[in-house]
Amino acid sequence: MPHSVEITVYEPEDDYALYVNGVELEGFIDEDSICKTCGANQCYLDDYDEYFCPYCNIWMYKDYWDRDETHYFKRRPLEPELLWKPCKELNFCNVRFFPNDKEYVYYCPDESIEKFDWIEVPVGNRSQLKEAQVTEVYKRQANKPPFPLEKIKKVERKLSTINEKIIETKNSLIREGIICDLSKAKDAINSKQAYDILKTPIGNFWLELNGSPIKISIGSHYPNNDDKYYVEASYYIKPLNPHFEKFKSLTICSDIDLRSARLIDNLGGEHKEGYNWQVDNIDLGIVAHPYS
Ligand SMILES: [Zn+2]
Repeated sequence: MPHSVEITVYEPEDDYALYVNGVELEGFIDEDSICKTCGANQCYLDDYDEYFCPYCNIWMYKDYWDRDETHYFKRRPLEPELLWKPCKELNFCNVRFFPNDKEYVYYCPDESIEKFDWIEVPVGNRSQLKEAQVTEVYKRQANKPPFPLEKIKKVERKLSTINEKIIETKNSLIREGIICDLSKAKDAINSKQAYDILKTPIGNFWLELNGSPIKISIGSHYPNNDDKYYVEASYYIKPLNPHFEKFKSLTICSDIDLRSARLIDNLGGEHKEGYNWQVDNIDLGIVAHPYS
């Protein structure tokens, strides 16, 4: 594997030390273990009791420092390169946990992550993983970080925007179910008809009871221009048979990629819960009324 930045690693013969790009570290080159990414020998550092690859700039093992109750060793830097390049530029991102407005800073080495992406990040003392949306991505020198580096947490992963199960369910409902198709005419609804799926120009909607699609009835409302909150149309999706047996959950499902859409606001209130998003040029609101 070629490396863009030249790295020199050596051990002096007459002294116990490890030099990386001329910087002296306490440690050694481990002749018995190799980096799986590039095949070079792993290096070991005494201060941190950790193995790393100086060429790939990676630690060999996940950081368990947080879970250790007694710390005999120093907490390792976010990446090994900071040991010989302390002013290196690092990638950070700000995230938001909806419905809260407050933003939090995370260390974000994955440079494919962009503004508005949904990611998973560790939260709290137990580093529980939670979903958050990226509000900003930026670089700062490691010696001028936006948050103390010894406390900052690292983005776990970018969340996929495509869910295969959703796509599969949608395809089978479109193929075999009764479709209420608003993609051609918006007055296509028969309120007495049992439908399987609501098809709209921006995507499809259906209901799942305990994880399986159910028959739905669909109502519509086309407001007047002078209504307080003007929307082009509202559609109401209800379970056709509301007498559930063994109720666990009722979910409104859609194949619209809401993770890559811009989340605008919380539409929750008394007896309702929901959000609105900007999807292409359309402002889409989805609200559940669990008590009606
Ligand atoms: Zn390597």
